[in-house]
Amino acid sequence: MDDGHFMPIIDEQLCISCHRCEKVCIVNNIYKPLSNESKPYASWTTDNNLLEKSSSGGTFAQIAIEFIENGGLVTGASIDGVEVKHILIDKISDLHLLQGSKYIQSITTGIYNEVLERLNDGAKVLFSGTPCQVSGLYNFVPMILWDNLYTIDLICHGVPSRKDLSMYLDSHTPKIKQILSFRDKSWKYGYAMTLIDLNGNKVQDDRNFFYDSFNSNKTLRWSCYKCPFKTGIQRQSDITIGDFWGAKRFDEQKTKGLSLCIVHSSKGQQLLETSNLHREEINWNECLPKNKDYFNPRNFFKFHPLRLLYPKLVNSCDFETIKILYGKSDKNVSLKYKPIKYLNSFFEFVDYRYKIRAVNKILCEIKKSGL
Ligand SMILES: Cc1cc2nc3c(=O)[nH]c(=O)nc-3n(C[C@H](O)[C@H](O)[C@H](O)COP(=O)(O)OP(=O)(O)OC[C@H]3O[C@@H](n4cnc5c(N)ncnc54)[C@H](O)[C@@H]3O)c2cc1C
Repeated sequence: MDDGHFMPIIDEQLCISCHRCEKVCIVNNIYKPLSNESKPYASWTTDNNLLEKSSSGGTFAQIAIEFIENGGLVTGASIDGVEVKHILIDKISDLHLLQGSKYIQSITTGIYNEVLERLNDGAKVLFSGTPCQVSGLYNFVPMILWDNLYTIDLICHGVPSRKDLSMYLDSHTPKIKQILSFRDKSWKYGYAMTLIDLNGNKVQDDRNFFYDSFNSNKTLRWSCYKCPFKTGIQRQSDITIGDFWGAKRFDEQKTKGLSLCIVHSSKGQQLLETSNLHREEINWNECLPKNKDYFNPRNFFKFHPLRLLYPKLVNSCDFETIKILYGKSDKNVSLKYKPIKYLNSFFEFVDYRYKIRAVNKILCEIKKSGL
């Protein structure tokens, strides 16, 4: 975990050479085919309590409620202190634990086995997570059990380094011991965190190093820069949800929370239609221009050159230096760091141009395919 990302390792002492891990590995094999019926919607819940706890339009929570009411179980990411891990719930009163985005890779230890056991018992399970986690689950669960498995994945920017988060939390005085929310709408819409420090005091913080580094793409997990699960508009999941950035309609909802919800299968359509969500069909021209993270994992240069140096620098530099190198470019940086500032501006400019080209390209492809 030199760069703050988990990597799978094989313990040679325990390995019995069955090669099962290679068979289910999502990088080597992708079992579930991509859908070919993706359709975009703008959606939101009309329940204000649900909406406030959700990062965007509360689409996940509203779907999960109906799923549990019909006897199903729901799996998703929850906060545990300053960690994030996947849990399975069967009660609506626990739904708040899964609501809201948690912007680090969640720990999935044990959860795939739990889902498998419940499916084997005949239960219906709704699994939510990043596109790679959903793909991993389809590789793990035998095809014969897929009928009762429903999946929701996210428009995923990629996951930033845990070291960024822990450096940021430790930089507070006193240090932070608990994250209550990564996006707390109760005090601000957007990237507004609510934390608890070692004295038990509540801390609210929005413009911070953690989000700057996350949005600068300089410390993502290596696999995120070439994510094979978000190329094009099709997905393995039944539904993809994200923030509806750049919406030109739904003005009132934009300040409260508006989801972009892309349905990929008849099961996804059923989840959406049986839920109590307000939804409106939209077209791809409305939703793709500001949501490149949905269909394209890369930037013009695959990654920023500082990503290569991150494992070394993060373990040797002080927080102030890391903030300058991996956070947002500060206008008043000292002469020593000016080259970094210019490098960042250059990368931002090239990426901006690349993004416009990528959007135009996918819209042309969609038009040609008649979707
Ligand atoms: C790492 C990450 C990157 C994202 N990047 C983008 C982006 O670039 N563009 C965009 O439009 N949207 C992005 N999102 C999704 C967005 O932040 C909202 O989660 C999404 O709009 C759903 O909102 P909601 O109101 O329907 O549900 P919410 O209640 O806000 O979201 C809850 C859902 O998110 C899942 N979830 C939360 N954190 C994690 C996690 N760490 N790992 C796996 N699943 C998690 C829960 O399991 C649950 O299904 C990202 C989310 C994450 C976690």
